[in-house]
Amino acid sequence: MRMQVLTIAGSDSGGGAGIQADLKTFQELGVFGTSVVTAVTAQNTCGVHGVEAVSPELVTQQLDAIGSDFSIASCKTGMLFDAARIEVVAAGVRRHAFHRLVVDPVMIAKGGASLLQDTAVDALKTSLLPLATVVTPNVPEAEVLTGMTIRTFEDRIEAAQRMLAYGVRAVVLKGGHLEGESADDLVMTKSETFILSAPRIQTSDTHGTGCTFSAALTAELAKGRSILAATVTAKRFIQSAITHGLDIGAGHGPTNHWA
Ligand code: PLP
Repeated sequence: MRMQVLTIAGSDSGGGAGIQADLKTFQELGVFGTSVVTAVTAQNTCGVHGVEAVSPELVTQQLDAIGSDFSIASCKTGMLFDAARIEVVAAGVRRHAFHRLVVDPVMIAKGGASLLQDTAVDALKTSLLPLATVVTPNVPEAEVLTGMTIRTFEDRIEAAQRMLAYGVRAVVLKGGHLEGESADDLVMTKSETFILSAPRIQTSDTHGTGCTFSAALTAELAKGRSILAATVTAKRFIQSAITHGLDIGAGHGPTNHWA
């Protein structure tokens, strides 16, 4: 039977990030994708031009429609907009016992638009992260989640340890926002720490990379892979996706197109 997976995230009308990137990634990796839309953005390669959240009631109805009919093997969250949506998502995840949950703590789009209200960070830490299998912050997101400045390798270890203390089983602290020849991701569980390294690709067509990476990780977890094996595959997948980034639109082109 085809594995069924779920993304709980925002819509990107430009098709490069959010729900659209997740569903394309699921399709590419051979799992059946379902979706719960938390917010709709008017967006293209140049940026976010408008945002409207879906009501908490309709988010709940979507979660219940999926949870009552599908066998969800893994799921992910992306843009959650605010604390009210986070609380109904956490309640839905618990009610339907959605497991293998990947939390991509989306906060700010590359163009600077806010995708999560500042007041929602506490809800993310206390309501959603304790339910998560993996959290996949980039460095700026990890700084907000931990309240610390991350510069050195030791800072990254300390930040990952602080995030594990929120109750998540594994942290993938992505290194794409740091300087250097390679993009090094730190993977930490309670018992193990790994560094996954890949050459840095110089391109501006990187819209939706975080979404695509966390969706690939979700798809691999659905297939029963271990957290480390799923992360290694997702890292290879996003590396290839960035290599094939599409130079379309006037801004940052999308990475969820495969030759
Ligand atoms: N729009 C939506 C709906 C998203 O979920 C995300 C990222 O998660 C983005 C935009 C941001 O994508 P980027 O940072 O690549 O611009």
